[in-house]
Amino acid sequence: MINKEPQLRVGVLEEYGEVKGSFNGVFVDPDGTRREGDFTCRPAGDGIHVVFPKDGSELRTATTTLTPATPDASFVLHDVAIGLKFHWERKESQTFRGALQLLARPGKGITAINVVPLEEYLKSVISSEMSATAPAALLQAQAITSRSWLVAMLERAAEEGHTPRAATPFDSTTSELIRWYSREDHDLFDVCADDHCQRYQGVTKITSPAVTSAIEETRGVFLVHQGRICDARFYKACGGLTEEFANCWEDDRQIPYLHSIADARTALLPITSEEQMRAWVTSSPDAFCNTRDASILLHVLPSFDQETTDFFRWKVVYSRTELEDLLLRKSGIKFGTLRALVPVDRGPSGRIVRLRIEGSERTITVGKELEVRRWLSPTHLYSSAFVVDTERDAAGIPQRFTLLGAGWGHGVGLCQIGAAVMAVEGYYAEEIVRHYFRGADVKRLY
Ligand SMILES: [Zn+2]
Ligand SMILES: [Zn+2]
Repeated sequence: MINKEPQLRVGVLEEYGEVKGSFNGVFVDPDGTRREGDFTCRPAGDGIHVVFPKDGSELRTATTTLTPATPDASFVLHDVAIGLKFHWERKESQTFRGALQLLARPGKGITAINVVPLEEYLKSVISSEMSATAPAALLQAQAITSRSWLVAMLERAAEEGHTPRAATPFDSTTSELIRWYSREDHDLFDVCADDHCQRYQGVTKITSPAVTSAIEETRGVFLVHQGRICDARFYKACGGLTEEFANCWEDDRQIPYLHSIADARTALLPITSEEQMRAWVTSSPDAFCNTRDASILLHVLPSFDQETTDFFRWKVVYSRTELEDLLLRKSGIKFGTLRALVPVDRGPSGRIVRLRIEGSERTITVGKELEVRRWLSPTHLYSSAFVVDTERDAAGIPQRFTLLGAGWGHGVGLCQIGAAVMAVEGYYAEEIVRHYFRGADVKRLY
């Protein structure tokens, strides 16, 4: 395990034809050359060409890392795309602390990486994910969880190497497509600045004093299990029961502190049958995350549309043709006339691990939960914990599919809305993380 604060390599820009920015204060090259003012970086040959108009100097190299000469120095990158891979996109200038690495990938333009101390990074990401008015215990629980998750990922990457997996081959004979996505999909840096990992906007957005003190009070504090930092996953709302790690990611990794638990004061039975699942999604169990209290939801969802508070239990309706079009668009597969959506197996939280999609032309079993959520929604379904009601015409052809579901996210580890409710009810940060990560210890490592 670590004994000092790690540095995180965050991919801020990728595949840019040109990167423009400026230094606030003095930065230095690896050879000690001082760099100040504006800069422009373009690909040149196998490397990069950086121009500094202030003193007319330039630099041709494979890669360079510019390090702040003083702690208060920062740098700005212009035209940073936000939410590129998701449904919204805008560009803005962003300010970063820490070092800037610039490099070119052959044929793929410039990559800009921010090398930032872990605690500084946490202040930024937690400030943009959580409201400044959230209770201290919630912010501290989130800080301990995010810190542990990040460093567990760094340690795993150091052991196994960054190895992006090849896409699963898929052809006309394939009948099953089971995929999951890990954060180790980046080879040049540890995390990207996009929603794929965690949205990171540097210090552009002022970090809140509440978040800053939650990070400082828990500085170096991690969830630890059997001498290792915990792979502490989190998501928005479990729906009453949390999910097993192996049902969302690798089957062969049994992680004791990521087993399914009842997110409640009292016992809730794990889902083991379709009948039980139907009763579950149509009921309102007394779980921590069963709240519509907007003031609590805003702690975890600062910019969330308050009209949409129905994610503990939710409903999505598609006409058959609507769903056929959606499936074609999202999966690239022509199912023909849709006949049925059949859950093949579920985890204890009710999340579907494998779903069989039956059509007149193709029948395919898809998994795991994230792939199911992607295929069945223009963006992402709230979760894969749903039952399907199918309305058919006289000839038995489906006309409408109604999905009745529970929870928001993969359901493994800490439930953010449950944690927010616990914090409001007076639980301490350590009690909250121990509730979700059973058997894990809380330890300060630096
Ligand atoms: Zn990423
Ligand atoms: Zn929950």
